[in-house]
Amino acid sequence: MDKKNNAVSICVICKNNYTGLGHNAEPLAVGECCDRCHADLVKVGWDKHNEIIDKLNEHSVPRKIPKDKQNLIGIGMILGAILMIVVTVWN
Ligand SMILES: [Zn+2]
Repeated sequence: MDKKNNAVSICVICKNNYTGLGHNAEPLAVGECCDRCHADLVKVGWDKHNEIIDKLNEHSVPRKIPKDKQNLIGIGMILGAILMIVVTVWN
């Protein structure tokens, strides 16, 4: 970042001129946007995004395999082991 604070740039979102360093416009757009777009759109978007991620974490943690599926996996492993023993013994 070697842009000067008084440099004039064009906002990638609203296409208006702005002065200053600008803000990362991602994920709304690639490039940099003005203070206003950052405050009104990008920041709001990120806040919402983080809110959703938090909610998602609340809902999915701890992410466990349901009991009935655990039993199926256990039975599958036992059957696999028996099959391997049988095949080994018969050969
Ligand atoms: Zn803008």
